[in-house]
Amino acid sequence: MTESPRPFDMVIVGAGFAGMYMLHRARGMGLDALVIEAGTGVGGTWFWNRYPGARCDVESMEYSYSFDDDLQQEWEWSERYAGQPEILRYAEHVADRFDLRSGIRFDTRVTAAHWDEGAGRWTVRADAGDAVSAQHLVMATGCLSAAMTPAIPGAERFAGDTFHTGRWPHEGVDLTGRRVGVIGTGSSGIQSIPVIAEEASELVVFQRTPAYTVPARNGPLDPAEAEAIKADYGKLRAADRLMPTAFGSRVPRRDEGALQADDDDRLAEYEARWDRGGFTFLGSFNDLLLDPAANETAAEFVRGKIRGVVQDPEVAERLAPSQVIGCKRLCIDTGYYETFNRPHVSLVDLRETPIEGITPTGIGTTAGHHDLDAIVFATGFDAMTGALARIDIRGRDGVALRDAWAAGPHTYLGLGVSGFPNLFTITGPGSPSVLTNMIVSIEHHVDWISDCVAHLRAHGHRTIEATFDAQEEWVDFVNSVAGLTLFPTCNSWYLGANVPGKTRVFMPLPGFPTYAETCAQVAADGYRGFALG
Ligand code: FAD
Ligand code: NAP
Repeated sequence: MTESPRPFDMVIVGAGFAGMYMLHRARGMGLDALVIEAGTGVGGTWFWNRYPGARCDVESMEYSYSFDDDLQQEWEWSERYAGQPEILRYAEHVADRFDLRSGIRFDTRVTAAHWDEGAGRWTVRADAGDAVSAQHLVMATGCLSAAMTPAIPGAERFAGDTFHTGRWPHEGVDLTGRRVGVIGTGSSGIQSIPVIAEEASELVVFQRTPAYTVPARNGPLDPAEAEAIKADYGKLRAADRLMPTAFGSRVPRRDEGALQADDDDRLAEYEARWDRGGFTFLGSFNDLLLDPAANETAAEFVRGKIRGVVQDPEVAERLAPSQVIGCKRLCIDTGYYETFNRPHVSLVDLRETPIEGITPTGIGTTAGHHDLDAIVFATGFDAMTGALARIDIRGRDGVALRDAWAAGPHTYLGLGVSGFPNLFTITGPGSPSVLTNMIVSIEHHVDWISDCVAHLRAHGHRTIEATFDAQEEWVDFVNSVAGLTLFPTCNSWYLGANVPGKTRVFMPLPGFPTYAETCAQVAADGYRGFALG
């Protein structure tokens, strides 16, 4: 460590889509900015999640940057939903195109960031290299980047290989002819299980909660469709920003309640959207996430599809979810339910027969032992707050962020935290974030932060900090909006329910357009709710 850390105008933690665009904007404003990234390359989610079958579930023409027209005109996606290798290539292309790598310190994990009251700056320390100091600290650490492997007794004694989908080996894994167990049936499990089944000699799926999944209907992207979008790309981007989820405007939500439609009409709507594939299924009617009876019509439709595909009625019943559809993030799959018709694939329902432990040769449940050569943990992430909590972030008076958030994350707009001056969180809790097309939310936050920093500099301010009152009012607002929906009714990662001991609070804010309007108004009002020093 040097005695006086090198000063930067802005330090950005993370080089996923958020950190990359933040660096580009910061440089464009003439700031001296540095990105610190734990991985050895750019791309964040798409750098780490290299499991078989990984791909986006928002269509690629929408799940991509919009900030540079030449970029969006020139880049060509090969599939409707691009796979992880292609999305990573895109991130690498963006890094090269805008010369971002020169501003990124790779292979370096930030361990601590302390606010220095006297200097009015952040001191940032990492597991490698010298400490640096920053006037503005931007956390682009990702909402789904802190991988979680459950503490199952005996795991350390397993003689085979273990993998987490979110930390998949870069050199790939050959599962040909091996007996594989997959724990977890969220999006990562549902994407990887059909592909692993192609290779493995035997596949045992350990399911705790069945998930709802809708077919992706993935395939080569029709060049004519791509061309039509590119002819007026701005129109699609603008229309998407008016959608609650910031994508899907080409198949808008039907502006009617599910129970207002008669039975035939309702079924036809579900069938049409099931055939089209993807998330637009949840836009069949406008009350699916508001009214339990409306939701049940969509849930039962999917359960009917499961019964239609899965040949063994007992397996079909185990795969049929009972929670509200959409309460946990909807999954989008390719051949998931069909995989359970294959003779070498079996399903263990952990609600009936829980795991007792991992042994040197496999996984033991209350019903018996499964001999395995490899275990895949598709067990998810400590979402939204995990990556921040793993850093020792201390604001005014040495208060630790993880203590300030012990009862759940408190932010103002999901962008700032009272007591933590000049700290910004991209897609932080309290913003629409993971309920949206994340690239839209990322661009929105980066643009807002850039404008805010420009405003501070233009007016000679050195600090900005959310006021406590504005923050608490915002938290109450987020809770009240979530309380109007069916989101809080199940054990989802949106609530932190997947992390033992984590306080249960619904973390994101439903509804992108209203939120974006609020952020614009806050800025127009001279950063109302923030104290400028
Ligand atoms: P990330 O991509 O997570 O990047 C954060 C970076 O910060 C990481 O590289 C990490 O290494 C780094 N970092 C974290 N902590 C530290 C530290 N202490 N020190 C240094 N570096 C650190 N969203 C969608 O909208 N559509 C999709 O189709 C979609 N598909 C997804 C598929 C998967 C498998 C997963 C896991 C998520 C998906 N998401 C999707 C969400 C996805 O995370 C976002 O779309 C987006 O990629 C997030 O970008 P980010 O830059 O905010 O975060
Ligand atoms: P996840 O949705 O949290 O799913 C984790 C799974 O592991 C769940 O089925 C969970 O069961 C199970 N699990 C966790 N701990 C367990 C334990 N101790 N014993 C048994 N089972 C356990 O995580 P994910 O699948 O990685 O997805 C996270 C998010 O990343 C997604 O919701 C999505 O936003 C994003 N993602 C997107 C895509 C895509 O399609 N583009 C792909 C992957 C990820 P419970 O449900 O019972 O907790």
